[in-house]
Amino acid sequence: MPDDPRKPTAGMRNAEERSPALVSSAGNLTEKPLSSGLRPDGKTQTSDLSAPRPRKSNIKNPTSDIPFSPVAAVLGQASMVDFPGRLAAVFFVGGCNFRCGFCHNAGLLVRPPAYFTWAAIRARAAEFRRSWADGAVISGGEPTLSPGLSELIAELKRQGFAVKLDTNGSRPDALAAVLGMLDYVAMDVKTAPDRYAALTGFGDTDAIARSMALLRAGATEYELRTTVIEGEHDDATMEAMGAWLCGARRWVLQPFVPREDLPDPALRSAPRTPLARLRELRDRMAGFADEMLVRGE
Ligand code: SF4
Repeated sequence: MPDDPRKPTAGMRNAEERSPALVSSAGNLTEKPLSSGLRPDGKTQTSDLSAPRPRKSNIKNPTSDIPFSPVAAVLGQASMVDFPGRLAAVFFVGGCNFRCGFCHNAGLLVRPPAYFTWAAIRARAAEFRRSWADGAVISGGEPTLSPGLSELIAELKRQGFAVKLDTNGSRPDALAAVLGMLDYVAMDVKTAPDRYAALTGFGDTDAIARSMALLRAGATEYELRTTVIEGEHDDATMEAMGAWLCGARRWVLQPFVPREDLPDPALRSAPRTPLARLRELRDRMAGFADEMLVRGE
């Protein structure tokens, strides 16, 4: 779901623990050993003996009737930047209903042919917990498209994680169904309403507004976030976005980062958004959200 995740294709783990019948083209994803996971202090963990044990909750195993999880890939190492205040395992769900030209997860836009088994998810989750991770991020793709989302959240909660969901906000009913299970939601607000369809291929901005209203009314901690692209996010567009999301708890601005594999060829050589522009917009938009942040400062 994120426009600029932590390079999931470079560290995804998959393959060997999937159903042999389902392993196919997804098997070309590379894998890094989790045993070299980082501790919160940045040192490499060498022993599991001092690591925290997974805290089991009382949630009953919800996955026994569903053969496969919706997870298509897992970031190879715990991330220190994907879940505010937590060291997080990142799980990627395949399939997306947007077609953003600046997407960094183009490989996940179409539903992949292979998925992790629940047993493999449990094993990975336990491994991350032993490597000091206390948060789990469910990203994509667009996770709310997956029927197994609530089961995945419940499974990760059962393993003792705080759970964050990354979403594009296009499916408010699906978001409402799981919101109470979540500890944090990061929802993309891509651009102003009248530019949504052109930028993302998704034009139902009422759905986006409903998701924002849900977050605003709920108790779950959340952020709205925008990848700022020069040429797209001019002052007028940002003002229109501010009026649309006005009253949000937190609005995070992050830079557009060019890459060779972006879906839109014209963006592959476009400039990275300068930090000075993000700071300027943070100050200009300060009245529209309780908290305005620039990510990556
Ligand atoms: S295409 Fe989907 S996964 Fe990619 S940036 Fe857009 S909403 Fe996120």
